[in-house]
Amino acid sequence: MNELDSEAMAGAMSELGYEMVSSEKDADVIILNTCTVRDLAEKKALGKIGALKKLKDANRKLVIGVAGCLAQQRGEQLLKRFKHLDFAVGTREIDEIPGLVAEAVAGRRQISRLCGRRKITEPAVYKRMHDVKAFIYVMRGCENFCSYCIVPYVRGHEASRPSFEIIDEIKKLADAGYREVCLLGQNVNSYGRGLDEKIDFTGLLEKINKIGGLERIRFMTSHPKDISDRLIRAVAELDKVCESIHFPLQSGSDKILKLMNRGYTYADYLKIVDKLRKNVKDIAVSTDIIVGFPGETEQDFRQTVKAFNEIEFNSSFIFKYSPRSGTKAAELDDDVPFKAKLERNRELLDLQEEISVRKNEKFVGKKLEVLIEGPSRKDKNISTGRTRQNVIALFESGKHGKGDVAGFIPRLASSSVLRGKLTDK
Ligand code: SF4
Repeated sequence: MNELDSEAMAGAMSELGYEMVSSEKDADVIILNTCTVRDLAEKKALGKIGALKKLKDANRKLVIGVAGCLAQQRGEQLLKRFKHLDFAVGTREIDEIPGLVAEAVAGRRQISRLCGRRKITEPAVYKRMHDVKAFIYVMRGCENFCSYCIVPYVRGHEASRPSFEIIDEIKKLADAGYREVCLLGQNVNSYGRGLDEKIDFTGLLEKINKIGGLERIRFMTSHPKDISDRLIRAVAELDKVCESIHFPLQSGSDKILKLMNRGYTYADYLKIVDKLRKNVKDIAVSTDIIVGFPGETEQDFRQTVKAFNEIEFNSSFIFKYSPRSGTKAAELDDDVPFKAKLERNRELLDLQEEISVRKNEKFVGKKLEVLIEGPSRKDKNISTGRTRQNVIALFESGKHGKGDVAGFIPRLASSSVLRGKLTDK
């Protein structure tokens, strides 16, 4: 999501005639797009803001702004603490950045725009970092208030974009050669709530599926409690919707899920996985897990391990719990020792590695489909792409080029990459 916001900021600045430079030393304007979902991200952002003072001291004309969730949450404090900052801008005010930069260039300093308004004006221009696949916001904000999560406080209430705006944007992308879109939202499954038009997320997928030139649709993130049978049917039946779904389990223990305020039990989650696998051939399921949440005993953790063995996720993101101030969980005693968090994290990472290798080995020799993204960064003679299951594929591209969709037969599998050769579609 931050990557897409950065594309929007770069797009807005390009309208003012600015262009990207590869080093901050060459920049006239520096905008730090911050994340605060984890403690480490926040510390890094604070360190980086502090380090930029040197550049400002050397060039008083340099404009420095801070954007993103940390700015939304603590913009005023940041301005007080870091006198070299020119502005702080909230997560829903990206379209105000050109105006803020113009004000700063004119000599106004320490300005903030942090109101977090309910209605979103989507930026008119994005400066996209990829040229085959694009992220698109379909909704922003979240009403779920999971106890550990700062997002509802920094990204605000749920707000969906009208479908005509999304369709129009995707049509333009498809005309410009983009072949894949990833629909983004904190909880895409609640798309449509609060809109005047009568539409839900499945209805939106149906509309996007009809766009000519577009080959693939992905989406994230999905909340387990909102994955409906109607959505599962859409994933099974709509040809452009890829067979891959990311939906966070967070813990295998019902006690911890309750403390997290997630609104489902492990059995509910398992039922959805079963339905998905029964209805959608070769679907890849990925998840997020937090280890060491307050009150997580060894027994609770074993239930998460059991969930990994039962479900066999294709991939997962595993985080060690750290309290975010301002959340409900931060009021609980952070009672799992750091060493135990580290060990639980390591155990799950190792288990996932084993499972991912096993899962990917099952693809070896099977004909898959790949969207070619271009030469690999490490070896220009090799091209890279992704399968519909979102696994990285490496191959010699031969007659095929960037943006083509081709058949792909994997020969070798690791936990995250398939190597093989292209065939006709
Ligand atoms: S659903 Fe996701 S974004 Fe919303 S509160 Fe829970 S973890 Fe945060």
